[in-house]
Amino acid sequence: MIELIDIYKIYKIGDTDVYALNGVNLKIEKNEFVAILGPSGSGKSTLMNIIGCLDTPTSGTYILDGNEVSKLSDNQLAEIRNRKIGFVFQQFNLIAQLTALENVELPLIYQGISASKRHRLAKEALERVGLSDRLNHRPRQLSGGQQQRVAIARALVTNPPIILADEPTGNLDSKSGAEIMQIFKELHAQGNTIVLITHDNNIAAQAKRIVRISDGQIIEDRQASAAWNKL
Ligand code: ADP
Ligand code: ADP
Repeated sequence: MIELIDIYKIYKIGDTDVYALNGVNLKIEKNEFVAILGPSGSGKSTLMNIIGCLDTPTSGTYILDGNEVSKLSDNQLAEIRNRKIGFVFQQFNLIAQLTALENVELPLIYQGISASKRHRLAKEALERVGLSDRLNHRPRQLSGGQQQRVAIARALVTNPPIILADEPTGNLDSKSGAEIMQIFKELHAQGNTIVLITHDNNIAAQAKRIVRISDGQIIEDRQASAAWNKL
């Protein structure tokens, strides 16, 4: 469903070309659980932005569900992004003035869905992340792990096939991080495709497939150990 063919992203800094992505070929099938692992500056965020249709490559072809993304207009990109991808970020990006329920309802407001249906879908999404008892809490009344779960519910509420998460455990203690990984495992088991970006080997080791990136190139692509199948 995700296919990147010979992708380059080159930034010009003065006279110098910075190759943030330097010939990336990557195919991710429906319902995979992939970690993209690499140190700071290796090109992970650039790759996430391209996969998430937030940015376009300098050259190369990106095909998402049969659509050649490189050829789409900005409006078409926004359309495909909203339908196909749920984003989760390190900094949660919740709106402080809104309750958990209202934060999760936001993407549905943009889709023009009625208040009663929004309410029902947002409640269901918060149930899926185990936060039924925190619907009316505001972000500052929630722990970091709970805030990230609200953010995951917000990513899920429009029912996108792909969840794209950039360092989702980066601001969490190890226990909350493990809870977030457990939620991703459950979403994967329910049919979502999960693409998780991380610099943390221990987090990556919990994915089913690990793609290592260094200096804008994929240097390793392997299936995780058999421990997975015992889930
Ligand atoms: P990571 O997410 O793995 O830390 P990035 O994708 O953010 O890596 O960055 C990859 C490389 O591209 C780095 O060398 C970074 O300095 C460079 N880079 C990223 N974004 C820009 C930009 N907007 N302008 C110039 N260089 C950039
Ligand atoms: P953690 O130990 O996971 O960081 P906290 O100690 O921050 O969690 O919070 C423990 C519980 O108390 C959480 O379930 C959270 O929802 C609740 N809580 C924290 N701060 C507030 C607050 N200001 N108002 C209401 N509930 C809160």
